[in-house]
Amino acid sequence: MQIFLYDTTLRDGTQREGLSLSLADKLKIARELDRFGMHYIEGGWPGSNPKDAAFFAEAAKMEWKHAKIAAFGSTRRANSKPETDANLKALLDANTPVVTLVGKSWTLHVTEVLETTLEENLAMIRDSVALMKAHGKEVIYDAEHFFDGFRADNTYALATIKAAAEAGADWIVLCDTNGGSLPDWISAVVQQVKGKIKTQLGIHTHNDSELAVANSLAAIVAGCRQVQGTINGYGERCGNANLISIIPNLQVKMGMFCVLPDQLQRLTELSRTVSEIANLNPDEHAAYVGNSAFAHKGGIHVAAVAKVEHSYQHIDPVQVGNRKRVVISELSGRGNIKMRAEELGVESAGLERGVLERVKLLESKGFQFEAAEGSFELLVRRAAADYTAPFKLLDVVTIVEQRRGVEMQAEATVKLQIGEEIYHTAASGNGPVNALDQAMRKALLSRYPELADVHLVDYKVRILDSESATGATTRVLIEAAMGEERWTTVGCSENIIEASWQALVDSLELPLVRAQSNQPVLLKHAETVAA
Ligand SMILES: [Zn+2]
Repeated sequence: MQIFLYDTTLRDGTQREGLSLSLADKLKIARELDRFGMHYIEGGWPGSNPKDAAFFAEAAKMEWKHAKIAAFGSTRRANSKPETDANLKALLDANTPVVTLVGKSWTLHVTEVLETTLEENLAMIRDSVALMKAHGKEVIYDAEHFFDGFRADNTYALATIKAAAEAGADWIVLCDTNGGSLPDWISAVVQQVKGKIKTQLGIHTHNDSELAVANSLAAIVAGCRQVQGTINGYGERCGNANLISIIPNLQVKMGMFCVLPDQLQRLTELSRTVSEIANLNPDEHAAYVGNSAFAHKGGIHVAAVAKVEHSYQHIDPVQVGNRKRVVISELSGRGNIKMRAEELGVESAGLERGVLERVKLLESKGFQFEAAEGSFELLVRRAAADYTAPFKLLDVVTIVEQRRGVEMQAEATVKLQIGEEIYHTAASGNGPVNALDQAMRKALLSRYPELADVHLVDYKVRILDSESATGATTRVLIEAAMGEERWTTVGCSENIIEASWQALVDSLELPLVRAQSNQPVLLKHAETVAA
């Protein structure tokens, strides 16, 4: 059965605290949603702010492959004419094929919030829907607080959606606006509505009881054919229904049809791209699409997965564009090391025991390889008998200077060996780690000019035993990039400079070693599977 997907990331999603999208961001996300195969994209509320109005002006010029663009707004004001209502005029000016109108279903909201009569509210719904239909729009009527309104006065709640249906609405969408309903209630209400209304139904839920996904699925089972939600569940308070979880549940588990299988394979990419544009950290543990969603850490799990892949996985991660990962930690068995090395394309036969012992020793000192796959790869490669390091760091001196009236300066001197030759270089920087990076590059670039394309993109410091205050152990994670490729390395020491240089050496050594073995540097996340 076909289920229609309605995305409101650009309107309801941006109600999330700390989330703000520029016009360019909104257009970028809309293009991603269209590419994915979303059926409806709600662009915003044109009557509420100029940015949303500008979005619709741009959207009207663009070509959409799959999606219909929807403009959102409320029914006309009380005691006014629809033709002269500023809100409805802004909706028409948005020039979209679809208009979504929200109206009141709950008597409390009509009399106490809108402060009008129950009769006038019905007229507001009827007039507004009829006006949009007269202008040839596909009209989606969002019945706000429907499930709470139905509990308070089911006759009136039904009268509101009947008014919308009679005025010609194409869809009636039942909203759990406060997000407090439970699946049983959602299911019972949808079934009752279905017996009384011919218009096709949709569902719009919020996550205040951590049930937005479950409630959406219950509504679909009870007869709704449209589901509204946002990417990654972004939204006000605890968020909206998360389409990223709803879609695979419907399609992979429940046999419904939402998008084509190859579109579903872009789900992970869609989730991460939107979080990147929204400048929010992706949830590594998100269902289906998180980096950890199919990660295996315990030795027994890994051994089982190596034999039968689905023994510890609820679906094949490839279906949603994710991938299986083997996590390396002190909980690992030799099987983890072997599988991880195979994934990296490193010959590890016979080295597993030695590598595992080394991982356990380093982890006891505070290293962590779960997030530092680059350093783990080097650990495996260095264990091979014929490994020759492209360079050796021999000596490091750093000086940090703070003098009155002068900005703080740092200088680093390094001595390193490449083949038989010794290189001795110095460089200054805005801090000791930066100076060290500059000095190492100066020495390495003459022999390895390709390192000019390697950039450090992230530098994270974590204090491990904070009770030791300034004498605490520090773990440093460095993320480096070359073009589209990224890798992360780790260092750990009581001395932050030493921890930094360990991670720095790994971040520069890895691309050189990889180039020698003609293998690309390990790609991060979805890039490895998106092809
Ligand atoms: Zn909402």
